[in-house]
Amino acid sequence: MQFLYGFIFGVGIGSLSYRFKLLTISGAFATILMATVIYGLGSWKYTMPVLAFFVLSSLLSKIRKTVRKDVEEYFEKSGTRDFGQVFANGGTACIILLLNELIVINNVYQLYVASLCIVAADTWATEIGTIKKTRTYNIRNFKLTKQGTSGGVSVIGTIGALFGASSVSLSAVIWIGESYTYFLGTTIIVGVLGSLLDSLLGSTFQAQYICNQCKKITERYNHCNTLTSFYSGVKWINNDRVNFFASLFGVIILLLLYHL
Ligand SMILES: [Zn+2]
Repeated sequence: MQFLYGFIFGVGIGSLSYRFKLLTISGAFATILMATVIYGLGSWKYTMPVLAFFVLSSLLSKIRKTVRKDVEEYFEKSGTRDFGQVFANGGTACIILLLNELIVINNVYQLYVASLCIVAADTWATEIGTIKKTRTYNIRNFKLTKQGTSGGVSVIGTIGALFGASSVSLSAVIWIGESYTYFLGTTIIVGVLGSLLDSLLGSTFQAQYICNQCKKITERYNHCNTLTSFYSGVKWINNDRVNFFASLFGVIILLLLYHL
């Protein structure tokens, strides 16, 4: 019965988001699938943080997109999220929840929320960090880099990461009880550190392409109506995969800390 409610809820959220161009059709299907699993296994306690992440991050993407069209040129995908992006953001959370059915995981809720704090921190860092022009540095060598580039970090972006992680963590706090300061502290710190890990992985491994016409570096396969050429990174690692690995690694590190 719980799974059915999750499914119905997912159809509602998915079609509404599709209607308002927050999700593509594949993104809407991924959302239905995820809602069924998450609500089915975890009820509101597990649905609320993912909902907080999705609603707030989507709104933020929409705002940034209207304010800064120029940074959009670099991104492979637009603010309308597809299957890959939905899975990249909620995949680790789903894995934790499914794994919890099979084995006992210490502090499972904290790990679950932390995984969402990481993707929220990363999303908010990008959206808030590119909302206005600001100095952006490459996380590996601290040289100035273009805003919105994978691996680029800025002061405003890091503050954005802090707010992103906090928004998800706070949405979960009513289920925590007395140890909420510890809960907020760890999930927010893990979220911000995870988003920095995301930048590090992004600047090291993410595939980048160069436009043969205007010579701009981009995540896109197409630019100026022509195919771009492979420029740097690992070919099969796009931004979605970087986000997924960052949340997965972040949670694995936290898991090891709990079980050692
Ligand atoms: Zn171009």
